[in-house]
Amino acid sequence: MTDFAATKARFHLPEGVIYLDGNSLGPLPKHASDRMAQVMQNEWGEMLITGWNKAGWMDQPTRVGDRIARLIGAQPGHVVMGDTLSIKVYQALASALKLNENRRVILSDSGNFPSDLYMAEGLISFLDQGHELRVVAPEEVEDAITDEVAVMMITEVDYRTGRMHDMKRLTAKAHQHGVVTVWDLAHTAGATPVDLAGADADFAVGCTYKYLNGGPGAPAFIYVNPRHANAALPALSGWLGHDAPFDFELNYRPAKGIQRMRVGTPPILALAALDAALDIWDMTDMAQVRAKSVALTERFIAGVEAACPMLRLASPRDAAQRGSQVSFAFPEGYAAIQALIARGVIGDFRAPDIMRFGFTPLYIDEGDVDAAVNIIADVMTNRLWDADAYKTRAKVT
Ligand SMILES: *Cc1c(COP(=O)(O)O)cnc(C)c1O
Repeated sequence: MTDFAATKARFHLPEGVIYLDGNSLGPLPKHASDRMAQVMQNEWGEMLITGWNKAGWMDQPTRVGDRIARLIGAQPGHVVMGDTLSIKVYQALASALKLNENRRVILSDSGNFPSDLYMAEGLISFLDQGHELRVVAPEEVEDAITDEVAVMMITEVDYRTGRMHDMKRLTAKAHQHGVVTVWDLAHTAGATPVDLAGADADFAVGCTYKYLNGGPGAPAFIYVNPRHANAALPALSGWLGHDAPFDFELNYRPAKGIQRMRVGTPPILALAALDAALDIWDMTDMAQVRAKSVALTERFIAGVEAACPMLRLASPRDAAQRGSQVSFAFPEGYAAIQALIARGVIGDFRAPDIMRFGFTPLYIDEGDVDAAVNIIADVMTNRLWDADAYKTRAKVT
């Protein structure tokens, strides 16, 4: 059994705050500060360069990758950490295209996060081989999978609406048509159960600062199906993805398996914080996290809809098709979110009109949901958002 009171106790949650934005940046695990201090003082401070061997720094990207593998249905040895998600999207997409060299279409959807689409655009223009980025509505992806498509690059859970694709079904259809799949798990990892191996996904990538609570800018992960692991070319052929980095050969030879997806020197301090965050995940069972997440989102939707008729649910009503977030559309959504933040309920706003709330059972419980609903009801029914101070947009929304 996952003891959610015990997991909640492991986080630093500021006084007077109900944090419904763990889908953007997870909160600080209490012991992460000590872990960072230990790594800085005992390892970096005392060991200096010998830390690469003595403290096992060089193996951190795969050691931490194995801890994440458990949460996304991958076997150990097929996930590696490094860089940011945008970079890993580029790498996975380039590798996937290379596996399907005779086709020219990259299929994605309009619910994808812009960075993923931008990376595809950049790669296409750089390759200059006539590739096309075909962006369809999320509901139309399944029908758009044809023999023309080289790669289907999809984010499983829509960052705006929380709508969830059926990974298993889309991957199966993609494979029937000879399409290679790249799944972005940014809003899935730590939010809903994933079975990459069971779905036979080809590539998957994701970030660790959202539901996994690894801290701002925590490194991303990449998964390569073992079927492709020794065939996929990494595109970013850095020295730490070389088969023998310390032979300092003049020519690149990709390492065996997932190691080839490494690029350069791993961010050891950031990995230490993430590693600490993953200790809390060791206390959990993903199916129970999902069950509680569904209960929390259902409770939230029912409460908000009963009290706030002016808000329109923008997330799927069917919990089975929803990730771990709930979005409501409201024309003055930006101001409404600012008014909520001023009253201790932290959600976020996504243009043009989405008020977004993330639910993370590791530290959000029913009491938090009820308290948040009461504050939202107050802000909405009494138009507390209608003040100039809440209408000036900050750099990060
Ligand atoms: C959050 C997110 C990103 C962010 O990429 P970074 O390189 O980590 O800034 C990219 N893609 C998706 C789908 C996301 O949700």
